[in-house]
Amino acid sequence: MTAPANATDVERTFYDVVIVGSGFGGGTMAYALSRAGLNVLLVERGGWAHRDDTDWNGRAILLEGRYRGESPMAVDQRPDAAPVQSFPNEAVGGNSIFFGGASLRLRAADFARWPIAYRDLERHYSAAEQLLEVHGNAGTDPIEPPRSSPYPFAPPPLTAPARRIFAAAEKLGWHPFQIPVAINHAGAREPKCINCFTCDGFPCRIGAKNDVAQTALAKADPARLSILARTIATRLAVRDGRVVALDVIDRDDGDRRLTVRGKLFVIAAGALATPALMLRSGLDRLDASDAIGRYLMRHCNAMLGFLFPFRTNPEAVNHKQVCIDDFYESVRKTDGTALGVIQDMCMPPPDVVRALGPRGFRWAAYLGAAHIQTLLCIAEDEAQPDNRVSLEASGAVDRWSQPIAAVRHRYTDGDVRRRDQLVAHARRVLRAAGGVAGKVRLIDSFSHAVGTARFGLDPTASVLDRYCRFWALPNLFAVDGSFMPTSGGVNPSLTIAANALRVAEHVTGNFAALTGGVDPRA
Ligand SMILES: Cc1cc2nc3c(=O)[nH]c(=O)nc-3n(C[C@H](O)[C@H](O)[C@H](O)COP(=O)(O)OP(=O)(O)OC[C@H]3O[C@@H](n4cnc5c(N)ncnc54)[C@H](O)[C@@H]3O)c2cc1C
Ligand code: SF4
Repeated sequence: MTAPANATDVERTFYDVVIVGSGFGGGTMAYALSRAGLNVLLVERGGWAHRDDTDWNGRAILLEGRYRGESPMAVDQRPDAAPVQSFPNEAVGGNSIFFGGASLRLRAADFARWPIAYRDLERHYSAAEQLLEVHGNAGTDPIEPPRSSPYPFAPPPLTAPARRIFAAAEKLGWHPFQIPVAINHAGAREPKCINCFTCDGFPCRIGAKNDVAQTALAKADPARLSILARTIATRLAVRDGRVVALDVIDRDDGDRRLTVRGKLFVIAAGALATPALMLRSGLDRLDASDAIGRYLMRHCNAMLGFLFPFRTNPEAVNHKQVCIDDFYESVRKTDGTALGVIQDMCMPPPDVVRALGPRGFRWAAYLGAAHIQTLLCIAEDEAQPDNRVSLEASGAVDRWSQPIAAVRHRYTDGDVRRRDQLVAHARRVLRAAGGVAGKVRLIDSFSHAVGTARFGLDPTASVLDRYCRFWALPNLFAVDGSFMPTSGGVNPSLTIAANALRVAEHVTGNFAALTGGVDPRA
């Protein structure tokens, strides 16, 4: 494992590449660039996951926010309510630490409005599946796009709750398949997954989830990657048409302010924080598209819980195992989007259900939790210019005097219609599985945020070029979910990782030209 970096050494070093953010975008990029022989510094505002018993405690993680950061975002997502402050989780590995492991590829039609085609990303998808050690069954997804290599590992057998959903979907004439997961069931490393109940939303206490810390960062070249955790990137400095430095705050050293220098810079702070960092750095003055922060998408998601006349998961196992996508292309001609997918999902722990369940049903859901089974509906949402991240107009700052990000988002009628269609399909599945009555909970998190620094072919309509390079600065790239011009209808992480590998290949192949200097590996 790569050793943590020391602040004094960091300030003295001139890095080949400085990366902000260690999630699927930044962590994967750090892996690929360090393995290609470049000297990389990875700056991450979160700390390392604790991986102790509390990491599997629902109250500590989901209610008390053990990993919640201290910089708020002002989120305006309801026309009838004032903006609320939200404090995103922070950790080395980004949201991969908390993700549910679902690792799906977009479909060829999802690339219709992208500057690249599915075939351009295909081999990088394969490489990302190898890197994240995805367990899946090729050829079982009824609308699977072409693949050049099989999954590295087969998934484990279906658990009892998942078998119930699988059989119900088959009864309806659909073609359910096992979700490909980045979870270590059969890989070479230890420990293996014990199929616990606190996976989606939680760090893996034993490290069996194939999050970015356990995979990309663990497989990076330790001699070439330095990781500066608990360090906040505040501003990129631009001189003579190039990024020359990054200002950071080292929280473990009394909030010491440092300047780190490098030849090439990569922002991968996530689709909410990346545009905020661009705006704090004044990059909007160099951007001809006025698209920084705009076109924020997050999927239009809902959870449908159904009451069953028996205990649905008496063995308390993780059963995020089944995906249904027969109807994925059903609105392509009318809406120009995918419809989306339905996935099996575990009920959160009972005290979390009581706190966060649908209003008016919290106690009922708490008392009946053992008899409820849920499905997650993930609908594609549309890119809207007014759905955006900006900086608080009031000039409000956080405790480090950094301007606070403001997030504004509204769904379109089409987004809601697609979500409701998926919920109707999910309702049929849960009824066919033996459920008697259901309740929908709309998901209002930004866990699938993408789109706020879209890539494209036209500098007046996109922030990044087709290799995710900032149009006006030859040595600045962005590789988290913000590059995506449409959200597609599947969970985003594998696409973000695959794209980071694609961009890394471009950077390593063109390093001297991009940095206007000499390739350090020559
Ligand atoms: C509970 C949950 C479950 C999910 N399940 C799935 C799933 O099953 N499958 C799937 O595909 N997707 C899933 N997702 C979504 C997936 O996790 C995200 O799409 C993905 O992690 C985004 O990767 P990213 O690289 O864009 O950004 P992130 O993972 O958000 O990484 C950005 C990193 O940048 C850091 N950062 C931000 N600002 C700064 C700064 N100023 N200085 C330094 N560092 C900074 C952040 O702390 C963070 O570590 C889930 C998300 C959540 C929250
Ligand atoms: S289900 Fe497996 S990977 Fe997920 S948290 Fe539990 S042990 Fe870890």
